[in-house]
Amino acid sequence: SSEAASAPTGWPPLREELRGLEPYGAPQLDVPVQLNVNENPYGPSAECVADIATAVAEAAGSLNRYPDREFVELRAALAGYLARDTPHDIDAAQVWAANGSNEVMLQLLQAFGGPGRVALSFAPTYSMYPEYARDTMTEWVQGHREGDFSLDLDHARDLIKERQPSVVLLPSPNNPTGTALPPEAVTTLCETAAESERGGIVVVDEAYGEFRRSGTPSALELLPQHRNLVVSRTMSKAFALAGARVGYLAAAPEICDAIRVVRLPYHLSAVTQAVALAALRHAPELLGRVDELRAERDATVSWLRGQGLTVADSDANFALFGTFADRHAVWQRLLDRGVLIREVGPDGWLRVSIGTAEEMATFRQALTEVLAQEA
Ligand code: PMP
Repeated sequence: SSEAASAPTGWPPLREELRGLEPYGAPQLDVPVQLNVNENPYGPSAECVADIATAVAEAAGSLNRYPDREFVELRAALAGYLARDTPHDIDAAQVWAANGSNEVMLQLLQAFGGPGRVALSFAPTYSMYPEYARDTMTEWVQGHREGDFSLDLDHARDLIKERQPSVVLLPSPNNPTGTALPPEAVTTLCETAAESERGGIVVVDEAYGEFRRSGTPSALELLPQHRNLVVSRTMSKAFALAGARVGYLAAAPEICDAIRVVRLPYHLSAVTQAVALAALRHAPELLGRVDELRAERDATVSWLRGQGLTVADSDANFALFGTFADRHAVWQRLLDRGVLIREVGPDGWLRVSIGTAEEMATFRQALTEVLAQEA
């Protein structure tokens, strides 16, 4: 009971503020159509699987040794991969990686947050951010987004000036809304944060960056202009490698060096490094379906609008739609039909990840039935 959870004699001796909290995570249910955690629906080809297996077998022979603590080969390969999204050079010393971009961003908070410091974002946004703050004893401050989920730059500037954050976290495209940040917004935020007491860093979380619509540049292009800009990426989404747990960032080398102080030694296993390097060799294949998924995303948004629903503009591999008086009932009725989506975002909204054409057809059929039932 909550009484027991808050009793001073509670066991185990968990930090007060953590008592009674549920661990973060969506339900992992074994249903035919899983469109709830923004995964890539396509697995790697047999050739890619074989290459990964060979790389892991090679790494296995020296698992008695600790892995390369500085993962230099992987950093260089990731820098090479990022070069496709910016005309400027990215050096291996500007790249850092960890077990998923969640760990990358937690490390950023460990290095740049902490007691007496503030981390800031604009809601609705990725719900892990307040957890990084909580876990590093950083104060969490949240501004708001406009009705269309874009950022009001005057509000953003005012809030940064008022609260002097040492870390600003902003996904672009935003989760769960799909909203991308225009480059002017990144520039304004970086300039404003740089003026704050400690010269705060701005983390543009591009977990879904590869899915952005044409014409939206990556924040990577702005790195040479702002030494406080950090661009976070992941191999979990466009790269179809969520199971391998590899996230990374590009930033000034001084920022990477600062993270090295807080990272655990050998945090990236030899197996993880081998898998990531092999996968990067297959980048064209793994990323090959991104265009297909973007087209499927645009078609899904149009179809949902055609049903009379409100849908947020999306630059990601998911769409946020609504609004429903009882979103839980809609979620449950879809699940009853074998389609798992996510109950997330502001009240009344639901989020669907973009799957294969067949999965999206099943989703449309199921939602059509549910909407007919609702009416
Ligand atoms: N950032 C955003 C905005 C996300 O939605 C996610 C995953 N849902 C992540 C970061 C973390 O992904 P990973 O740890 O798999 O890189």
